[in-house]
Amino acid sequence: MSGSAITPWVVGNWKMNPMRADAKQLVQELKQLLQNQNIEESKCHIGVAPVALALETVQTQFSDCSRAVSIFAQDLSRVAGTGAYTGEISAELLKDSKIEYVLIGHSERREIFGDSPAVINEKIKNALNAGLTVIYCVGESLAQRENGQAEHTVLQQICDIAAVVQSEQWSNIIMAYEPIWAIGTGKTASPEDAQAMHAKIREGLSQITPAGKGIAILYGGSVKPENAVELAACPDINGALVGGASLNAEAFYQIAQAFANTK
Ligand code: PEP
Repeated sequence: MSGSAITPWVVGNWKMNPMRADAKQLVQELKQLLQNQNIEESKCHIGVAPVALALETVQTQFSDCSRAVSIFAQDLSRVAGTGAYTGEISAELLKDSKIEYVLIGHSERREIFGDSPAVINEKIKNALNAGLTVIYCVGESLAQRENGQAEHTVLQQICDIAAVVQSEQWSNIIMAYEPIWAIGTGKTASPEDAQAMHAKIREGLSQITPAGKGIAILYGGSVKPENAVELAACPDINGALVGGASLNAEAFYQIAQAFANTK
């Protein structure tokens, strides 16, 4: 399977946003846009990642949508199962609430909350063992890019998880390449630079697992309707992880439409 034969994913990471009333309106607007002009499920998977508190509500709100919209948790516990772990949400608790998808390794988790590669590996292992599908985020800092270490950093982040992903579990991994300097900054990697890194990621994954050729690799970092078509045209960019623009229903819809139409 070549990179461009993969059905793209467009996933909105809502981060610590929005308030309940705004979230309700955002879902309503997105459902309306999809009802007016549907984006075929075979052309683009769509997902949103609300705050943990809103996962089940948003799931219920999308239950009568004209097409599937997958609900992603933004993180999960490094501890599996249930028990005396105040404040934590395990993979099993997510699964029990019919939340089947989770983001792991976002740079904000790594940088602000200190998620080390070891912690991320525990989270990946728990998620996959519970049967969840993971978007695993990788990406280099500006300093690493300027020092010529971007490729090494990203490939190392992929090798890190290879220690815990069983061979049959790679089909439950989606990759997201998110250069840290492009997240929330308005700066996007040029389509050429993004494609070059995605091709390296594809090559790295293919060396680790035969499933590597079929793994979706999303781009994230200031994706908006204005740059989505160009990014979608790159053969190894199989979708987008969208932060800021996903809080605007029309902008998010247009990004999904760009990937559905271009791929
Ligand atoms: C993100 O945080 O995953 C992200 C890509 O954010 P933004 O689109 O706002 O850069």
